[in-house]
Amino acid sequence: MDKLISIVVPCYNEEQAIPIFYAEVVKSLRSIPNTDYEIIFVSDGSRDNSAKEIKKIASEDKHVKYVIFSRNFGKEAAIFAGLKESRGDYTAVMDVDLQDPPYLLKQMYDILEEGYYDCVAARRVTRKGEPPIRSFFARCYYKLISKISETEIVDGCRDFRLMKRQMVDSILSVTEFNRFAKGIFSWVGFETKWLEYENVERVAGTSKWSFWKLFLYSINSIIAFSTAPLAIASVVGVVLFALSIIMIIFIFVRTLVFGDPTSGWPSLVCIILLLSGIQLLCMGIMGGYLARAYMETKKRPLYIVKETNIELKK
Ligand code: UDP
Ligand code: MG
Repeated sequence: MDKLISIVVPCYNEEQAIPIFYAEVVKSLRSIPNTDYEIIFVSDGSRDNSAKEIKKIASEDKHVKYVIFSRNFGKEAAIFAGLKESRGDYTAVMDVDLQDPPYLLKQMYDILEEGYYDCVAARRVTRKGEPPIRSFFARCYYKLISKISETEIVDGCRDFRLMKRQMVDSILSVTEFNRFAKGIFSWVGFETKWLEYENVERVAGTSKWSFWKLFLYSINSIIAFSTAPLAIASVVGVVLFALSIIMIIFIFVRTLVFGDPTSGWPSLVCIILLLSGIQLLCMGIMGGYLARAYMETKKRPLYIVKETNIELKK
């Protein structure tokens, strides 16, 4: 029997990229023998004509399915929705801007067919075409998270990957609200093969990630996949406590020996400022975790569907 390949495509304001992506990806999918395909476009609250473009394509090709969100819920929610509605034996997640080269699909499929691997993922080995400052912070981020998280997050890894059904189902079983797909892909385990490729610039439209949005995203991912910042806060507390004991003894002895000349106000102010700064920082860190815990307990749905052409799974 033919194997079914599902492609999950999150789209946010991508009216120009959608038709180009569709044409390219269908070409690549048709070149894989003995397979059938479905493409699931998830419009993540797009404000342009993305939904219209997707519906137009869907009306001409019965392989094309769509899920349209009631507002922008973020790429992570869109990926979750697409994976949930996918029915393929093999399922891929792909950006619509063709930064995930469709020609890799055939290679990925062949590797999965051999049987050993459960997932074939793509990894950018260059970042050319990207603003240097963004690349610099990205590199720092990957170094940091690989140190403080037990879940491995590979530098340059993309969400682009082809996975066997079992792995997709495992990912769907992770229902946390604060989702970080790259972390979850790695956390569920299984054998992953990495394919390396050179960075490709997007075909149309602009990146949906501002520097600030990426920064918040990285903070979110650290909180989702590491509790090290909490431990660091305690360590800083212990070190400062030890330091203050030493200082107290020092001042005590000095006063006994030399008397008490009333000086040292500026240094006192500096110390108070430093310590209250550190305290606020630590409270901020705790607050970050508390806020995520609060959001998780609400058990809100990850997304709301406004329109679709498939029967949604329960
Ligand atoms: N995207 C989305 N929701 C968002 C932001 C982005 O579904 O809130 C989609 C976007 O349409 C694209 C993919 O996620 O298909 C990657 O976005 P983008 O190319 O802007 O990110 P970059 O490649 O610059 O990191
Ligand atoms: Mg992109």
